[in-house]
Amino acid sequence: MDTKKLASALIPDTDLLPLEEYERMYPPRDLKKGAEVTRLAPSPTGFIHLGNLYSALADERIAHTTGGIFYLRIEDTDEKRRVEGAVESVIRSLKYFNVNFDEGAEIDSPLNSYGPYYQRRRAAIYRAFAKDLIERGLAYPCFCTEDELNKVREEQTANKLITGYYGEYAVCRNLTEEQIYANLAAGKPFVIRLKSQGSTQNKLTFRDRIKGEITVTENDQDVVILKSDGIPTYHFAHAIDDHFMRTTLVIRGEEWLSSLPVHIELFKVLGFPMPAYGHTCSLMKVDGGTKRKLSKRKDPELSLDYYRRAGYYPVAVVKYLMTILNSNFEEWERKNPEADYTQFKFTIEKMGKSGALFDLDKLNDISKTELSKLSAAQMYDFLNGWVQEFGTDSDRAHFADRAYIESILALIMGIGGKKRRKDIERAEQGVRLIAYFFDDAFAPDRSWRFDADTVNAVISSFAALYDPADDNQAWFAKVKEVAAQNGFAAEMSDYKADPSKFKGSVADVAEILRIAITGMPNSPDLCTIMGILGRDRCLARMNAAMLN
Ligand code: GLU
Repeated sequence: MDTKKLASALIPDTDLLPLEEYERMYPPRDLKKGAEVTRLAPSPTGFIHLGNLYSALADERIAHTTGGIFYLRIEDTDEKRRVEGAVESVIRSLKYFNVNFDEGAEIDSPLNSYGPYYQRRRAAIYRAFAKDLIERGLAYPCFCTEDELNKVREEQTANKLITGYYGEYAVCRNLTEEQIYANLAAGKPFVIRLKSQGSTQNKLTFRDRIKGEITVTENDQDVVILKSDGIPTYHFAHAIDDHFMRTTLVIRGEEWLSSLPVHIELFKVLGFPMPAYGHTCSLMKVDGGTKRKLSKRKDPELSLDYYRRAGYYPVAVVKYLMTILNSNFEEWERKNPEADYTQFKFTIEKMGKSGALFDLDKLNDISKTELSKLSAAQMYDFLNGWVQEFGTDSDRAHFADRAYIESILALIMGIGGKKRRKDIERAEQGVRLIAYFFDDAFAPDRSWRFDADTVNAVISSFAALYDPADDNQAWFAKVKEVAAQNGFAAEMSDYKADPSKFKGSVADVAEILRIAITGMPNSPDLCTIMGILGRDRCLARMNAAMLN
């Protein structure tokens, strides 16, 4: 068969360069020894998930701790799945978590000389290499229809055979020159398949940077390399792009492990050295006592957008992911509580080999701790950022008064006290938590534990004594006085000695006042809250509580 003629008939393009030209255009990168070039290669579907952030963080840390490059490539070969604005959304979402690209699609960088970074714009290069494979007898056209392929698959499944296009099932492998040209003349659509040289009798041993040594079976499938629209499949584009973009380390999900034999063969037939690989384990969660993969359908927390909307503190999410990425991160963090996580020596070899357990409760804990380290001004900025993007008009109106909010935050966070409070977990919850400081958002839940007469008597006695100028001590002395006036024990010790003598204790009096003022039985220091609210609001709330 004249494969040169066949290649020209199948790929008649006139804009293809000689293959050496591509090597010259995209030379090996001039980086110091040991520098890793990593990439994130998402499809522009608009859905960016925690798994993407998990591997992007590993990519970013590895590139930036070795003096390498982290770039963004858009795998847009499937036109149907493309969503407008998806690329910007990937960049924005990752940036929120401090993961920044050095190079790539929509990144403005002088480094951008390995592009284009959209696969659809790289058609010529894929087609040049496919043409070369056809010329060398290592690829061929396949005219099988979807129906024919389905039928074969059903037959293979029924006979418990490996499914796919291989061996005797690879019927177009053996088409004669005449048959091929007749099909072409008849205008039949075709794909280009690799003519696999492998055999499943052979085993290959491979060292994955995460999973360690892995033994796989050689590929014998004649996989599609160019689809009927002339656009490459993932496999072919992966080999060509990661070679010419000079990726040194491919970090990707373990679902690709089963295609590794195909990729090994493709790199071999294309004459490219293999990059190193690290296949990340899937993120799992415990659901009803069993472990399962996080699912797009069932778990909103898989989407990165979820964290922005709920107002998670980005550093907390990153630190949490670091704890599941590198088993020694937590210990390092304990020893270096003030250090920035970027000072941690991240290593791919310490990444988990199997099922990383994602635990929202633990993330929430880390988030509380991280947020408790902020100053009131930093907390204001963080909450305000969320309010401006996701809050209500009324939230925005509240946040217009920076000084008022900062005084609330200083109290809520225990700033200046012996120990910081950890009441704020994320922006949405933090904003709701301070809502009672604003009359329009004050929605008291007044579940009194005493009858209306007692409640009213306690509140009115306190209102009569109340002086906004009182310090904490004077304020508390009045609460005790109110207790004594109304049949409650002013001293806890008296109450404990004989509870039957009293209606309750001074703590119950404080609770009644707390419910009146904040609408809740628990809150930070009530005297300080009353100071922040001011005299008029406090009196109005006490009055309103008595009417109920
Ligand atoms: N586009 C592929 C994906 O989103 C990329 C896999 C890879 O990183 O090579 O799964």
